[in-house]
Amino acid sequence: MDYYSSHINKLIESLAGLPGIGVKTAQRLAFHIINMPEENAGALAAAITGARQNVQYCSCCCTLTDKELCPICSSPERDKKVIMVVENSRDLAAYEKTGKYKGVYHVLHGAISPMLGISPADLKIKELLVRLKGDVDEVILATNSGIEGEATAMYISKLIKPIGIKTTRIASGVPVGGDLEYIDEVTLLRALNNRNEL
Ligand code: ZN
Repeated sequence: MDYYSSHINKLIESLAGLPGIGVKTAQRLAFHIINMPEENAGALAAAITGARQNVQYCSCCCTLTDKELCPICSSPERDKKVIMVVENSRDLAAYEKTGKYKGVYHVLHGAISPMLGISPADLKIKELLVRLKGDVDEVILATNSGIEGEATAMYISKLIKPIGIKTTRIASGVPVGGDLEYIDEVTLLRALNNRNEL
């Protein structure tokens, strides 16, 4: 690492800290950025800062949004009595792309993972329970079908059981360990339509 200037090293280290980016990719990206026209590099930096400063959690469903209440929660067209629980905003986007789901969402921002040290307290579960005090007909657990997503769905279904709200789990048409965002719309809709009551 000492072959480069300290500024380049710092950039490589920052990039290598991102998920899915190894040192080699970080080096490639860093040199690409260095060789960009200065205004493009500036625009990239500004986009990062702007997103970080202006994006917040929706005060209702906890998805990432620019406003206090996200467009889905503030839409009168959406059925507020059906809440689909997803792991992250990318999963929400995958279901939105189908254009067929008319309920609302709740974004957990992760899944329970003892291995990664993610406990229920690290997720937006408390916020979900607060919402369930309102008028809710169904909670659809649409966490991923990997071990962590299943464990999270089970954990939440046990919390909801005493409240007596209908709780369903999307069908396992979703490949095991598959990230919802990479699954085609037909498979997603099938998983949603064939959901099972827990
Ligand atoms: Zn929202």
